[in-house]
Amino acid sequence: MGTTVSAYAATAATEPLTETTITRREVGPHDVAFDIHFAGICHSDIHTVRAEWGQPNYPVVPGHEIAGVVTEVGAEVTKYKVGDRVGVGCFVDSCRECDSCKEGLEQYCTGTGQVGTYNAVGRDGEPTMGGYSGAIVVDENYVLRIPDSIPLDAAAPLLCAGITLYSPLRHWNAGPGTNVAIIGLGGLGHMGVKLAKAMGAKVTVLSQSLKKMEDGLRLGADEYYATSDPDTFVALAGTFDLILNTVSANLDLGAFLGLLKRDGTLVELGAPEKPLKVPFFPLGGMRRSLAGSMIGGIAETQEMLDFCAEHDVRPEIEVITPDYINEAYERVLSSDVRYRFVIDTAGLRN
Ligand code: NAP
Ligand code: ZN
Ligand code: ZN
Repeated sequence: MGTTVSAYAATAATEPLTETTITRREVGPHDVAFDIHFAGICHSDIHTVRAEWGQPNYPVVPGHEIAGVVTEVGAEVTKYKVGDRVGVGCFVDSCRECDSCKEGLEQYCTGTGQVGTYNAVGRDGEPTMGGYSGAIVVDENYVLRIPDSIPLDAAAPLLCAGITLYSPLRHWNAGPGTNVAIIGLGGLGHMGVKLAKAMGAKVTVLSQSLKKMEDGLRLGADEYYATSDPDTFVALAGTFDLILNTVSANLDLGAFLGLLKRDGTLVELGAPEKPLKVPFFPLGGMRRSLAGSMIGGIAETQEMLDFCAEHDVRPEIEVITPDYINEAYERVLSSDVRYRFVIDTAGLRN
């Protein structure tokens, strides 16, 4: 039977999100049910509901930065109990048997593929529905524990924006002595600045303008440059070990590759609607690498949450009510987000 909760859903690419009701499955033996307290708005939510990555399965209830409190656990659940503070990120299941799953890299599952928190189909054959809602039921193995020192509203954006930057910073060994640049100071980008700084790297923000420079430096950036100024590409040529591109639109990657040292790596994190163009010479000419990375596995997401607790890393958030979601989308699209919208879902709980 399951339970009914309120949610905000998109019914078409060109329609605003509206309030509706959805059903959450009955709590199975391995499931954790929790009341959602906060859900972050990720630019991926907008790409998805506006059909920029292909036609989604409407209605779409977005939201994969979810934080809340456990209300019920299945008979065989061992990791969580009622009252625990928990979160869910971008996926709620995977095959559990392939090499990626066994290595804790569920996001790269080659069996069933990761089962998205929304716009996917769960093991039960039902469409998955995300965090813009009052409650959710998720297998305990795909649930994260939120450290006591991190408030639930601040925890939400860590579950996508946080891990998406933490994982490549770790994989490409950001730390003392490395020179890291972050392109785009939005939801992902501002977490990149904070995390890279906490890991001990030197951090430079590459933003379209200097409008957010004061913020960038306050968040921990050592330097801040405008990419609209051609001099930036002269001044910073051959400077960085690692560049993380968080931009949601198509950039001239050739210009940015030229900012890497020999053997440096540019990691593509933004997922624009159209393919990116890559010229050979700024890449091959200095044996540079262009890489990509997608979120992080469950174990690494937990590691990231614990790292943020220990190093006092929190996102900068603007908490909104659900009736502001459509306006928040427009503000994200015009780079007017400081730096993550987080929906207080109290009005959606029954
Ligand atoms: P966001 O908050 O909108 O931030 C994107 C930033 O990119 C903006 O704040 C802006 O920064 C810059 N930007 C936007 N349009 C631009 C343009 N036309 N030219 C140059 N710069 C532009 O978005 P987000 O939530 O951080 O997500 C960013 C991208 O990452 C999206 O495509 C999203 O789907 C993707 N994503 C990927 C993963 C993954 O696992 N790889 C995970 C989550 C999200 P400035 O104003 O500073 O220039
Ligand atoms: Zn996301
Ligand atoms: Zn797998």
